[in-house]
Amino acid sequence: MTTPARAPSATQTLRLLCGFAKTRQPASWSEHLAEHGPLPSGRRRRGGDPRLLELVDKSGLTGRGGAGFPTGRKLRTVAGSGRAAVVVANGMEGEPAAQKDALLLAVAPHLVLDGIELAARAVDANHAYVAVHRGSPASAVLRAAVAVRPEPPMPVTIAELPAHYVASEESALVHWLNGGAAKPTFVPPRPFERGVGGRATLVNNVETLAHLALIARHGSEWFRQVGDVGEPGTMLVTICGAVRHPGVVEVATGTAVGEVLRLAGGASAALQAVLVGGYFGTWMDAELALSLPLTQAGLRAVGGALGAGILIALPDSACGIAETAHVLGYLAGQSANQCGPCVNGLPAIAGALTDLARGSWSPARRGDLDRWLGLVPGRGACRHPDGAVRLAVSALQVFAADVHRHEASRPCAGALVPPALPVGAPVSGSWR
Ligand code: SF4
Repeated sequence: MTTPARAPSATQTLRLLCGFAKTRQPASWSEHLAEHGPLPSGRRRRGGDPRLLELVDKSGLTGRGGAGFPTGRKLRTVAGSGRAAVVVANGMEGEPAAQKDALLLAVAPHLVLDGIELAARAVDANHAYVAVHRGSPASAVLRAAVAVRPEPPMPVTIAELPAHYVASEESALVHWLNGGAAKPTFVPPRPFERGVGGRATLVNNVETLAHLALIARHGSEWFRQVGDVGEPGTMLVTICGAVRHPGVVEVATGTAVGEVLRLAGGASAALQAVLVGGYFGTWMDAELALSLPLTQAGLRAVGGALGAGILIALPDSACGIAETAHVLGYLAGQSANQCGPCVNGLPAIAGALTDLARGSWSPARRGDLDRWLGLVPGRGACRHPDGAVRLAVSALQVFAADVHRHEASRPCAGALVPPALPVGAPVSGSWR
């Protein structure tokens, strides 16, 4: 592999977004080359590229889309399939609070496309897709970027899926690409076993692929110079809620939540809690959250999850129960409506939380709520109900004092104002 002339310093932030994030304009092909240099040379080989696979293993790169799975292991499951595979870059970012993938695609589309080429080389794929929501500005940016890249080694198709929340789930992506509805399917088979066109399919988040593009240029040691030893590198984080400058920052993995909030201008009000990991994440008491490292392992140790890298700061003035009820109502309406836990469980939980938030509640109902919260997880085709329940359970724990007040039919002042957490407009219509 060739090394580009200029490697960003290990401590340089904005490795992914570079200076382009300031203008929010997509980097042109020539700007991209000037910033990053050409891709290391190489070509597709039957069974994948062992040097590239080893490089990714050594880098310790983990997925940036939610689960945090080791990328090298994921690549190897597809590379060993015995026939040409398919790569799907997931840029759907279904959650209304999330912005990081949209920003990355807006300013650095060629970095993502580089990562797609490399992933295809690593796993021996001869077709790639970039999945985005229908109507997303990323679609035109990507089409323009694909059109100017010289000698593409394979076709790259921009796939525009309906903007349903669960359409970004990997089995839903594959189902849609195979001509079906953009709804999750029961697994196995998983996409890496039988995916698009029945072929082994690698589904990777777009940020993960952008990191791959830099690792291939600068090496695994370069990547490991920044971030947590077990989960190295940098990550994009979306920060919203009660901070002075909401938006996206790139930080070293393992950075404390408090430091990330400082990069967003600091809290704009006294905080009571932080939602870590987004709507499938967990509420954390503010004091605890601020010292927590942004790693899967560090958050798992306290019952949390990194999710898709979203932090939402909740001010003292807000009602955590009302905000959670609002989000649960949204999530209940966003299911694919095809499994019992989503058809029956989530609306019941959302309804109970809404009544609790309003104070229209009797303590006897808590038994029903706890029972539903125990029954729903692990029973759907996808993790949608599990994530929603995780959020609800954490709210009942972190806002326990508010729960007691609300149970006594005395909702706090924060419950009487409209909730602030963003939810998308309801998506109706076709799943095709
Ligand atoms: S669990 Fe819910 S969201 Fe997932 S496939 Fe079933 S109905 Fe759809």
